[in-house]
Amino acid sequence: MIVVLKDNPDQKQLDNLIQWLESLNIDINISEGRDTTILGLIGDTSVVDIDLISALDIVEAVKRITEPYKNANRKFHPDDTVLDINGVKIGGGNFQLIAGPCSVESMEQVCSIAESVKGSGAGMLRGGAFKPRTSPYAFQGMRDKGIELLLEAKKVTGLPIVSEIMDFSQISLFGDVDLIQIGARNMQNFELLKELGKTNKPILLKRGLSSTLQELLMSAEYIMAGGNEQVILCERGIRTFETITRNTLDLSAIPLLKSMTHLPVIADPSHATGLSRLVKPMAMAAVAAGADGLLIEVHNDPANALCDGQQSLTPEEFADLADSVKHIRPYAYRSNR
Ligand code: PEP
Ligand code: MN
Repeated sequence: MIVVLKDNPDQKQLDNLIQWLESLNIDINISEGRDTTILGLIGDTSVVDIDLISALDIVEAVKRITEPYKNANRKFHPDDTVLDINGVKIGGGNFQLIAGPCSVESMEQVCSIAESVKGSGAGMLRGGAFKPRTSPYAFQGMRDKGIELLLEAKKVTGLPIVSEIMDFSQISLFGDVDLIQIGARNMQNFELLKELGKTNKPILLKRGLSSTLQELLMSAEYIMAGGNEQVILCERGIRTFETITRNTLDLSAIPLLKSMTHLPVIADPSHATGLSRLVKPMAMAAVAAGADGLLIEVHNDPANALCDGQQSLTPEEFADLADSVKHIRPYAYRSNR
């Protein structure tokens, strides 16, 4: 990090700044030019609040040279992270389809979808038990009963299961959930991120509706700073001015994230588009762009689904998607970083 000082900075304020930085274990290289003095900060500057420094009277400008995320940063971990989710690997060339209903509705529903997506090559089963709905009057999920039914589907199919946690008070229900999802609306629920950082559970972190990639990586950093390094990132579409699609799939996020971080990156074309007919083309595009996996909503009766039926594929449509994706995989983009 570089701090450019204003002309004739107040010596007392400068001493205070230097003392504060030294207390954070930062070494300082002072370069006095003819008109301008520049401080070069050396050490782990991820602990330095750039806004705090910018606000000082004696400071003209501050520039970060290294990113504020360290654990998630590819610079410090050049090799891809490979996660092992109860025997199913993702990342570092291991690709996974994660499929299932938006929300768990009944034993028959979740078990029949689980069997069919497994038959088409899905490596994990998704299913919401706690649903973050825009309206408080909409179906809120089956909650603890939903988790029980997912566990039953796991027993029957052997597929690891993925489900969303909305509050840390629910954690005791997630003991046998293999991959805990943090939804887009909770990406910056920092207390939840910190608590999950203390667990040893793999986490699927979805990008917030209006979040930058740096903000997504900082949220991953919250989890990793607590000691939990098992994080998968998910591009699930962002808010734009377009209204025909539910969100806009940010395809460039996939190769970009993969160059910025060593963590696996997957895409969710279901929530990104909101329209079932767009799920397959966007799934193919995401795979071509280098995604390590896909999160796809599948329902046995989309027209009568309690949640997100309009974007859900039938099991047959999912089988077709899985087949197309398999053919694209050998040509998928791999950056030479
Ligand atoms: C989901 O995956 O069911 C979900 C609610 O996704 P998001 O948080 O991306 O909206
Ligand atoms: Mn959904």
